[in-house]
Amino acid sequence: MKPAPFEYHRAASVEDAISLLVALGDEAKIVAGGQSLVPMMSFRLARPEHLIDITGVPGLDEVSLDGRDLTLGALATHQRVLESETIRRSRGHRIIATTMRHVGHLPIRARGTVGGSIAHADGSAEWPLLAVLLGGSIVAQGPGGEREIAAEDFFFGLYTSALEPQEVLTRVVLPGASGATGFAEYGLRHGDFALASAGVVLPSPEGRGARAVVSGAAPAPARLPAVEQALSREDLTEEDLRAATSADLDTLETEDDYQRDLVTTMVTRAVQEARGR
Ligand SMILES: Cc1cc2nc3c(=O)[nH]c(=O)nc-3n(C[C@H](O)[C@H](O)[C@H](O)COP(=O)(O)OP(=O)(O)OC[C@H]3O[C@@H](n4cnc5c(N)ncnc54)[C@H](O)[C@@H]3O)c2cc1C
Repeated sequence: MKPAPFEYHRAASVEDAISLLVALGDEAKIVAGGQSLVPMMSFRLARPEHLIDITGVPGLDEVSLDGRDLTLGALATHQRVLESETIRRSRGHRIIATTMRHVGHLPIRARGTVGGSIAHADGSAEWPLLAVLLGGSIVAQGPGGEREIAAEDFFFGLYTSALEPQEVLTRVVLPGASGATGFAEYGLRHGDFALASAGVVLPSPEGRGARAVVSGAAPAPARLPAVEQALSREDLTEEDLRAATSADLDTLETEDDYQRDLVTTMVTRAVQEARGR
């Protein structure tokens, strides 16, 4: 199917995009890589009357490291991140490159953007999980100026987030992990969206606590507090880890047994990967 007719606008700056969003109202949508929005339009699941293309806006594709903080501009593509030497060399951010290999296929990674993925807030996508796992923050600019939102407070549920309709997501800031990291995901075929995935950061020698985040257990990426606590124990067995995951899944009300098994296996694999490093 082809998308319903729409009017195309090319924004010259973030301010220009915001003015267009304000002027055109609810029927306008930002388009970046188009890898989620355009298929939805083709299936007539989305029918925006106006598309505001931000791909020509200068300065929105930075990839830069300042101390522990990695800043990714909204227009940085998945592939650019995957190939970035800056990211590969930063021990605390290496998990990002590992994770990017699971995102779709090369043509999708070459066009799809970090900002697009986070704004789209698909509960099974890799970027939302990474942003929550690393304790990142999301920067959005709207008619009232700029604001920074903790990733943990950003994702409300499937395709819903704290981003306001008149805001442009401009960048994401991701602190590097202090402890060893691991990531595991399961999809039906390579490049498919994950049915379940898990990321963990082990406690660091400097005393930072563990973090564990999963997708596939709830409509948005979810932290696992019982697993995080369990990871501080050196004598932790696989059985203990499974019990802690089960307790977290009870809290998240993950009822489907198949989904519970998948998520539990992904947590176990992510922890094994982190411990093996
Ligand atoms: C076959 C296929 C397989 C895929 N597999 C995966 C996968 O395994 N994992 C995965 O994570 N993704 C996958 N994707 C999705 C892909 O990663 C998309 O690139 C990404 O989800 C959206 O990024 P985009 O730049 O293409 O956004 P777009 O499609 O342009 O936009 C998506 C949404 O975000 C909004 N938006 C975009 N940028 C901004 C911004 N800066 N500010 C405000 N709003 C904005 C748009 O208005 C729209 O609502 C797949 C896509 C396809 C077609």
